[in-house]
Amino acid sequence: MYEDGLPPLRDVISRYELNAKKSLGQNFLTDLNLTGKIARSAEGMDGCSLKDSIIYEVGPGPGALTRALLMNGAHRVVAVEVDPRCIEAQKEIQAAYPGKLDVFEGDALLVNERDLIGDTEGRPVKIIANLPYNVGTALLVKWLTLDDWLPWYSSLTLMFQKEVGQRIIAEPRSKAYGRLSILGQFRADARIMFDVPARAFTPAPKVTSCIVNIIPKEKQTPRQKILEKVVYAAFNQRRKMLRTSLKALGKDPLPYLKAASIIPTCRAEELTVEDFCRLAKAYEK
Ligand code: SAM
Repeated sequence: MYEDGLPPLRDVISRYELNAKKSLGQNFLTDLNLTGKIARSAEGMDGCSLKDSIIYEVGPGPGALTRALLMNGAHRVVAVEVDPRCIEAQKEIQAAYPGKLDVFEGDALLVNERDLIGDTEGRPVKIIANLPYNVGTALLVKWLTLDDWLPWYSSLTLMFQKEVGQRIIAEPRSKAYGRLSILGQFRADARIMFDVPARAFTPAPKVTSCIVNIIPKEKQTPRQKILEKVVYAAFNQRRKMLRTSLKALGKDPLPYLKAASIIPTCRAEELTVEDFCRLAKAYEK
């Protein structure tokens, strides 16, 4: 038994026969010290404490992170899980924390999170999750491309494969720099908090993971959709010069490259996020 009165995660996994399904990106954590560290890394980053916040968790699985969130005093946890076997396992946690944990069956890519969370009583919502790797990037894109900005959540604390984390925080002229970097940095501040070795998971994946913390920042111009369009065209042919790759947008790129003070022979990876913003604004005009 742990301090929350619940059994070790390995017992939960065997009792509920949670043999990991690769198709659902199931790599479970079993060490509550580690998940406690993940929970605490979300503490105060956005100026909000766990105790005051509602946590939205994707894929609670057997519950290592869910339990750490509750042990560290989360006001309420709302979780969405696609695997019914895991939902059964979550019932023990719900019994140990009456009224503190709501678990919904569903696909996190499709749900409307705010409907699931319901009344927040004016509390901030933090998204904290050990994401299934097969949909992790798609979920990040969903949360970073919302029309309403600032968004409904105050921070994202997410597990990614390290290579994905490095793409999110990458700087211009590096190999990892691309669409995900612009997305992560255009209207948010992103940083890698710490690495998580493969051996921490059951089963162990092939690669190292990392925890990334992302805090939304005030509304930026240009409009998200326009920026995405320009960034997509530029990186879709990342080896080509912008004067060529941007032709895919349908009008002569030279006038708006000039208006944005960008040298037409540059390649996408040489432009900073600010350069892309100027370029997208000039394109929109
Ligand atoms: N949070 C648990 C932990 O840390 O041990 C499990 C993490 S495991 C990497 C990912 C979890 O997400 C699994 O429980 C899996 O069933 C669930 N999952 C996979 N795809 C999902 C989806 N589209 N929507 C919601 N949950 C999903």
